[in-house]
Amino acid sequence: MAEIMDGKAVSAKVKAQAAEEVARLKEQGIIPGLAVVIVGDDPASRIYVNNKKKACQAVGIYSEEYALPADTSQEELLELVRKLNQEPKIHGILVQSPLPEGLDEAALVETVDPIKDVDAFHAYNVGKIMQGTYSFLPCTPAGVMELLRSSGIEVCGKHCVVIGRSDIVGKPMAMLLLHAHGTVTICHSRTQNLKEICRRADILVSAVGKAGFVTGDMIQPGAVVIDVGMNRDSQGRLCGDVDFGQAEKLASYITPVPGGVGPMTIAMLMKNTVTAAKLQNGIQP
Ligand code: NAP
Repeated sequence: MAEIMDGKAVSAKVKAQAAEEVARLKEQGIIPGLAVVIVGDDPASRIYVNNKKKACQAVGIYSEEYALPADTSQEELLELVRKLNQEPKIHGILVQSPLPEGLDEAALVETVDPIKDVDAFHAYNVGKIMQGTYSFLPCTPAGVMELLRSSGIEVCGKHCVVIGRSDIVGKPMAMLLLHAHGTVTICHSRTQNLKEICRRADILVSAVGKAGFVTGDMIQPGAVVIDVGMNRDSQGRLCGDVDFGQAEKLASYITPVPGGVGPMTIAMLMKNTVTAAKLQNGIQP
């Protein structure tokens, strides 16, 4: 039976460390600040934004929320981001995705000042991640790396298979595993022989967004299985991509959903906001 990788427990440690750093910064008169922008009324986005605000409170980070109506224009949104770029109380800017149709997410991402880009989506930060000279790491892949580290799982030399190649999860995930000296295979919707490739993974990361996508016959006995997916099952319950019942019998370690990667994402956002506040005050993170 697989050992469960407890994202709640590990995220609590990361947040506790962030809280200690915030307390030290406050002694120097620096209060890390995060602005969260949400456009429209997507219920899942509302839950994420509320969770982020709660985490800020718990860690001692100052937060501001900008809840804009779905008919907000691109220019209004860009104007807000430009204003936040100039606002000294705000060290991190997060625009919750997805944005309503008609808004250009790519243009928005490029408008966020890279030093306030706590999601690490700006091309400058993406380039730094490619080089391995980053200040910020995208929260979800960074959370996965932290979970691996805290479970004592060695990535060096392992065959790591990432299913999914999105800019926010799959691609940076693959890059971080590569920086940790994993041998990385990236799979996507056009991949042939997906099951065979997955069965050769020592570390399998699924970021597809389809409930029950990863079945037992895709898992090598003893593999580490990381489930990034956040989906709803037929009864409307939150679930990942992995058939947990089948996978836990085969894997050595596995992340549950909920309680695995999800809480890590928010904890890494807190860490990135602290890093941003340090960088903007000339302190080495
Ligand atoms: P996305 O942009 O929709 O990307 C999904 C990826 O899965 C794409 O690269 C797609 O391939 C691939 N894919 C789809 N069907 C496939 C198939 N049949 N075989 C192989 N690959 C397939 O999604 P995302 O933003 O990366 O998010 C992925 C999942 O992670 C979602 O469930 C999301 O909710 C979740 N998520 C969780 C967290 C967290 O904190 N836990 C954070 C972010 C996202 P193509 O590129 O070829 O289309």
